[in-house]
Amino acid sequence: MTDNSKNQIAIILATGNKDKVRELRPLLENISPLFRVYALNDIGLDVEIEETEVTLEGNALLKAQTVFDLLADRFPFMVVLADDTGLEVEGLNGAPGVYSARYAPMSDGNPPTYTDNLNHLLHCMSGIVNRKARFRSVIALKGILPSPQGSFLFEKTMDGVVCGTITPEPKGSGGFGYDPIFMVDALGKTYAEMNMQEKNSMSHRSLAVKKAIITLRDILERTGIPHTTLNVEL
Ligand code: IMP
Repeated sequence: MTDNSKNQIAIILATGNKDKVRELRPLLENISPLFRVYALNDIGLDVEIEETEVTLEGNALLKAQTVFDLLADRFPFMVVLADDTGLEVEGLNGAPGVYSARYAPMSDGNPPTYTDNLNHLLHCMSGIVNRKARFRSVIALKGILPSPQGSFLFEKTMDGVVCGTITPEPKGSGGFGYDPIFMVDALGKTYAEMNMQEKNSMSHRSLAVKKAIITLRDILERTGIPHTTLNVEL
């Protein structure tokens, strides 16, 4: 039996969110026969990284860099993927943006729930005419890969954006977070009125993931690492 493990490249998903891992794993494993995809708990890494930056890019990079540094001794070649998402409302000067997960005040020392945040946003929007908004996901990739010139170190960010309008009241029962009040302009329905497949096919997150896959494939091409031919369209 030959040991191929030294040729393998670890793809680390810097998230504790099982749904994101389930969605991303098959897509990333498809890119190269050398890729092995790990979630943080697969490798026993139990870290809670505080999102202290003031931009989505800053937080995504902070998470990717932190995990990269923690694993530098364990994986000679790896790519860490981290993300951060926010809902940016024009009439609120871009709020809640990077603070989307903690927009409503804490109650009894507990972080706000999805419902608290949604209701707080509707409350802040009362009397505001401009309800245009956009969901934006940023993905950060931080990696070190083998290349003919030695190791190839890289850091990149990419985003996915979907434009919409904040509805006066919630519509639909699917999804999570702000989905019931985010009307996708191009489709005339809220994210919560779509099934999971429909949302995943066009969401801000899936657009960012597609860009990340295209970026990774380009890097593999440049470094001469075997990869599959991908049929990813933006
Ligand atoms: P995260 O960066 O993916 O953890 O997202 C930050 C916050 O943005 C979440 O806590 C949700 O409130 C909101 N959010 C992110 N993605 C979505 C989405 O697809 N639909 C609705 N809300 C979302």
